[in-house]
Amino acid sequence: MDDAIVIGSGPNGLVAAVTLAQAGWRVRVLEAQPRPGGALYSLETTLPGFIHDVGAAFFPFAHFSPAFRQLRLDEVGLQWRAGVYESAHPGPDGVCPSIARDVDLAAKSFGTDGDAWRWLANWQADMGPRLAEALLAPLPDIRPALKLGFRNLSRFALAGPRSAAGYARVLFRTEAARRVIPGLSLHVDLGPDDFAGAPLGLVLALLAAGSGFQVPVGGARSITHAILTRLEQAGGILQLNTRVKEIVVRKNRGVAVRTENGDEVPARRAILADVGAPALYLRMLPDSHVSGWVRQSIRSFRYGWGTFKMDWALASPVPWRAPEARQAAVVHAGDSIDDLVSFTIEARAGRLPTNPYLVIGQQSLLDATRAPTNGQTLWAYSRVPSFLPDGWDRHKEMFADRIDARIEGLAPGFRSLIRGRAIFAPDDLERMNENLVGGDLGGGSAQLSHLLFWRPVFPYFRYRTPVKSVYLCSASANPGAGVHGACGFNAAQAALHDSTARGLALG
Ligand SMILES: Cc1cc2nc3c(=O)[nH]c(=O)nc-3n(C[C@H](O)[C@H](O)[C@H](O)COP(=O)(O)OP(=O)(O)OC[C@H]3O[C@@H](n4cnc5c(N)ncnc54)[C@H](O)[C@@H]3O)c2cc1C
Repeated sequence: MDDAIVIGSGPNGLVAAVTLAQAGWRVRVLEAQPRPGGALYSLETTLPGFIHDVGAAFFPFAHFSPAFRQLRLDEVGLQWRAGVYESAHPGPDGVCPSIARDVDLAAKSFGTDGDAWRWLANWQADMGPRLAEALLAPLPDIRPALKLGFRNLSRFALAGPRSAAGYARVLFRTEAARRVIPGLSLHVDLGPDDFAGAPLGLVLALLAAGSGFQVPVGGARSITHAILTRLEQAGGILQLNTRVKEIVVRKNRGVAVRTENGDEVPARRAILADVGAPALYLRMLPDSHVSGWVRQSIRSFRYGWGTFKMDWALASPVPWRAPEARQAAVVHAGDSIDDLVSFTIEARAGRLPTNPYLVIGQQSLLDATRAPTNGQTLWAYSRVPSFLPDGWDRHKEMFADRIDARIEGLAPGFRSLIRGRAIFAPDDLERMNENLVGGDLGGGSAQLSHLLFWRPVFPYFRYRTPVKSVYLCSASANPGAGVHGACGFNAAQAALHDSTARGLALG
């Protein structure tokens, strides 16, 4: 019999599985889809030879996440590539403030706000890896945060309640620099004027300046394959095409999972679910084992906005007007705070954004293995309403054209380079991976009401659930979205701890 069953093979599920297997447990991962990796994979979605990341594409936590560091993935062949600039923010004003790991280069692109950028970069340098360690630690352990020191903690405390736009207005003088942090906050569902929206954008800016928005050689799937190598080395097993329907509970303990085919797969010590919190609490666990209050709270668990994602096969690199953007890993299209505010209002009102804010990835510029010679890949997403009253199908092509037009505005000639494109509306993303509910890429909202002690529901913010031996290990748990493996690593640590404690109690 297996010691642990892990439901789902996203990065969190796989990290949890390896952590348990390396501790000597027999581990089996059950994955619903015919391929592993969840939102961490790559496929030829446009034309043969063009490798596109299906979801996550840039990895600011790659080198600093304690979960990844313990896996030593570079020793099983994982290699990284970086751009000259990490994040470029061009606008119609012709200016392009850009984050780079080279402070002088970045400061130059911030122009009049160069010194303000230097202040941020020095702050990042002072914290180094301690920032990621603090962000990814399990709650309520505040020791990693305390290691940041009083000065750094005070700076975060001052930024904490601010909106992204408010913080940017205090820090920067130019409109161009002011679009950077609110643009980064919009990676999740945090609009420029949202209460406590600044920290996420600020942290992404600091991480970009520190570890950068690097890409793995061969595509995001190389990370998944490297973790799978570690799993195999530790004796763990991955079983594809196996969707788990429910968890079998006896004497308030999770003892097995039941698959969609009706098979019962027993687990001696633990079941870890790399699934959305509502899927675990409302579908997989029997009603009788979850109190009415917890079920009620999980019913109001909110997902973030939908995601509209595109891939392009291009004949040559995007001819951005801004030279910084031509050498950047990620380019953000968002003209100004006002533009980002209008975008947010439209997305929240359920309307298709008129001028879509875009996160654009230029992976093949950094990693030539992604495209054939004389070709380039491009990847982008916009946040959108999860659902449209008359469905997504009839709007997909039109909205994709709107995205093309937005890029064309910043890079005249772009459209003439397109050899192929692939379009994924929110419902396509959810079909690919049922955790991407309504196309949300974050496993749940990133609003303060859905973070920390409230993620996914109080008092179950430490991976444990009302049922013994059953743990939530997906991005619906703390610290939330992103490829850092921390949800899986921390949940596995909780399972190991509880199992040892049970063993001691049994004598
Ligand atoms: C378009 C997009 C862009 C993104 N960009 C970035 C980025 O650049 N950088 C970054 O760090 N993050 C990014 N993210 C977010 C990141 O990908 C996620 O936060 C991360 O993948 C979450 O990992 P996870 O293991 O919790 O779940 P997932 O990656 O969602 O994997 C969950 C897995 O569980 C499986 N599963 C679900 N239910 C069942 C079931 N009942 N039975 C069996 N299997 C099941 C699914 O099929 C899936 O394989 C992006 C996401 C998307 C969608």
